[in-house]
Amino acid sequence: MADKITLNDDSTLNVSNNPIIPFIEGDGTGIDIWPAAKLVLDAAAAKYGRQVEWKEVLAGQKAFDETGEWLPEDTITAFDEHLIGIKGPLTTPVGGGFRSLNVTIRQMLDLYVCLRPVRWFQGVPSPVKTPEKVDMVIFRENTEDIYAGIEAEAHSKEAKKVLELVKEVFGRELRPDSGIGIKPISEFGTKRLCRAALNYAVKRGRKSVTFVHKGNIMKFTEGAFRNWGYELVKEEFSDVAVGWDDCNGDPGDKILAKDAIADIALQQVLTRPDEFDVIATMNLNGDYLSDALAAQVGGIGIAPGGNINYVTGHGVFEATHGTAPKYAGQDKVNPSSVLLSGVMMYEHLGWEDSAGDIIKAVEQTIGEKIVTYDFARLMDGATKVACSEFAQAIVDRL
Ligand code: NAP
Repeated sequence: MADKITLNDDSTLNVSNNPIIPFIEGDGTGIDIWPAAKLVLDAAAAKYGRQVEWKEVLAGQKAFDETGEWLPEDTITAFDEHLIGIKGPLTTPVGGGFRSLNVTIRQMLDLYVCLRPVRWFQGVPSPVKTPEKVDMVIFRENTEDIYAGIEAEAHSKEAKKVLELVKEVFGRELRPDSGIGIKPISEFGTKRLCRAALNYAVKRGRKSVTFVHKGNIMKFTEGAFRNWGYELVKEEFSDVAVGWDDCNGDPGDKILAKDAIADIALQQVLTRPDEFDVIATMNLNGDYLSDALAAQVGGIGIAPGGNINYVTGHGVFEATHGTAPKYAGQDKVNPSSVLLSGVMMYEHLGWEDSAGDIIKAVEQTIGEKIVTYDFARLMDGATKVACSEFAQAIVDRL
């Protein structure tokens, strides 16, 4: 009998060797990459006497075709009840009433961390000279900033009202044809995000946490994020971490908490990647950083992601690319993004051994130049294989 994953009083997860995990196959190439990823995930779990009972839940086009709804309530209920889930890419319905299914799932489960580890695998084609120096983990805030943004169209009655209010409260006269955007950043939202990043750094023996912000220009949102981050280090992590100003950049054996302005950070992750380790940032900066960094290590075919609430125990791990509909059903595309999201999920469940084995086998497979079309076109002497063959090659090396 398979078991539900449950939450312990101390917010850790209680996971048996036979847990039930809901999955969304995904639209488009989901039908190719999910079975490939599952083959590897199952084999790596079985090595240690574990077996996941995968429970299919629906979302996206498949859900719409079968139920008439893009995101059936049963799907959210399953993710809510079983705490941990995984998903392939989803078609964003045009005019379906949702901005994005992915964003909706994150919001409904209050998955406040978008976790994006970025590291290079030996042999993966990269546009930079030393991709091996890239080993960063981005904690991107998932519920505030532009994800909670409010906009008013230029000339609308809402925009006019805000312009009046700005004049009244701030004494500033803005151009009457301005569109308006409001981005909220709260102390609560900032501290829970930074707490997650610092806890991760402690647990995984990482060296630094960098708060990335644009606080020189936006003092009470981005600047406040930076200040609340440092404040949290002092309030809750002083035994294991220290802020840059409190140690002149020399933290001893503690974790160094530092900050970087977003524009220069985007340069430095490229020119001095080994100076960055864990990064904590707001929604929009995190969006730019995660994709820019993914490009350095092989692009979206291989970048994994997870959306997590460390307090309630909920986590949904996901491929970061889209459905690539033109390749759907061709057994062609790279399954690494959803597979490595599964690896993140295993790490999150405490299955470090199974996760580590997959990483080694992926490294070995790509190192031997056995790759899908996307990498094969950028490599000399590669053996181009199908999506399912790539997965089998990984299993053979587990
Ligand atoms: P996309 O599906 O990510 O595809 C863009 C290109 O990225 C593909 O043409 C392909 O490039 C490459 N690519 C994507 N997945 C790959 C994989 N597994 N292996 C290798 N290469 C891969 O982006 P899109 O065409 O803009 O969006 C299509 C649909 O996906 C839309 O409905 C969009 O809303 C949705 N979407 C969903 C998510 C999500 O669910 N997380 C994210 C983004 C977009 P080449 O053709 O150059 O090889």
